[in-house]
Amino acid sequence: MQEYDESNYLEDTISPDCPSCGSQLSYSAEHKMIACNYCGYREEIDNSSDEVVEQSLHEAVERVQDFVPEDAGKKVFDCQNCGAKFMVESDKVNVSCGFCGSRNVNLEAYNHQYVKPIGIIPFYISRDEAAQRFKEWIRRGIFHPNKLKKLAAVEDLHGLYIPFWTYDAQTESKWSGEAGFYYYETKRVRVNGQMQTKQVQKVRWTYRKGHLSHFFDDILVIASGGLEQRQVERILPFRMEEIVNFDPRLLVGWEAEVYSLEVDDGYQHADRIMDQKIRNMCSAQLGGDTQRNLHVQSSKTDQTFKHIILPLWLCSYSYNNKTYRFTINGQTGKVHGQKPLSWIKITLAILAFAAFIFAIWYARESGMFSS
Ligand SMILES: [Zn+2]
Ligand SMILES: [Zn+2]
Repeated sequence: MQEYDESNYLEDTISPDCPSCGSQLSYSAEHKMIACNYCGYREEIDNSSDEVVEQSLHEAVERVQDFVPEDAGKKVFDCQNCGAKFMVESDKVNVSCGFCGSRNVNLEAYNHQYVKPIGIIPFYISRDEAAQRFKEWIRRGIFHPNKLKKLAAVEDLHGLYIPFWTYDAQTESKWSGEAGFYYYETKRVRVNGQMQTKQVQKVRWTYRKGHLSHFFDDILVIASGGLEQRQVERILPFRMEEIVNFDPRLLVGWEAEVYSLEVDDGYQHADRIMDQKIRNMCSAQLGGDTQRNLHVQSSKTDQTFKHIILPLWLCSYSYNNKTYRFTINGQTGKVHGQKPLSWIKITLAILAFAAFIFAIWYARESGMFSS
C-alpha cells in the first residue's frame, strides 16, 4: 500500500457502528430513525433543538474577516471499516469507501467554513416515497402529452442535504402614496351615427401616509453552490418547527453540501426579499383600486441568522430524449419541476376557445339574443 504523510490525513470523520452487530448505521427516512440495515437495530433521533438559536449577524460579519479556513485540497481517507487508504477532497462532506462501500461523514469539511450548521431537518420522504410523489406529479395537468404518464420513469433521485441561511430582522417603515378609487361617469357618444350612453371609468386620487412595523422571522436563503433560490422557492415552505440540533449521524448515507454563499452575501438576498414584502404590506395599507407614487423608507435592526441544513430530492427523468429536472421537498414531499407540453393539446384548446367566441358573436349578430 502507498505511503502517505501523516499530517495529510482527514482528521475528523464519522461512521457510526451498530452496537448490536457492528455493521454501519445510517439515517433511514423510511423509519425516521438511525438504523442498521443488517440486524434491524434502530435508534430514535434526538429531537432537541436547544442549540438552534439565532446569532448576531453584525458580530458574525465582523469576525468572518479574521477567519482563516483550513486549506482545502486532497487528503487521505483512512477507512475504519476495511483499512483502505485513498485520497479524497477534504471539503467534501460525504466520503464513500470505494473498497468496502462504507459511507462516512467528513466533519473536517466544516472546518473550511466560518459558520457551522446548528440545525437540521432530517429526511422524512424516503426514496420510495419520492418516486411515488413523482408518479402522482407527472400525471397532473392537462396540457402534457398522454404518453408522459406511461413513459416517464425517474432516472436520477438524489437525496441531498442543502445548506441554508435563515435571517430575522425587526423593520420600521414609513410610507406615502396615492390611492386611486374608481368611479364612473355616464357619457353620450355617437356610434355609427347613433347616440348611445356609455360608462366611462375615472379615478379619484387620495394622498395617504403611514407607518409599518414588522418583524421578519426565518427568511430562508439557499447557500448552495449548485442550486438557485428560484429552484427551491416553489417547494417551500419547510415545517421549521421540526428542526433539530445538527447531528452529523443524520448525514450518513446521504449526500450533503457545505455552503458556498457567505453569511453576509446571503443577507443581501434576504434584504431584497424583505424589501419586496415590506412594499407589498405598505401597498396593502395604502389601499384603493389602483395606486401611484408609493414611496417606502425602511430601517432594519437586530438582524440575526442561523445556518441550517434542509433535505431535498434532486431528480430528473427523460422524455423523447430530453432530460427534465424536478425537485422534491425532502420533508413535506412537495414537488416542482419541468414537464414537456403537448402543442397539439394546446392548439386544440385555443381552437375550441376561438370557436366558442365565434359562436357567441354569431348568435348575437343573427339576433338570437334580442327580444
Ligand atoms: Zn446491526
Ligand atoms: Zn472501506
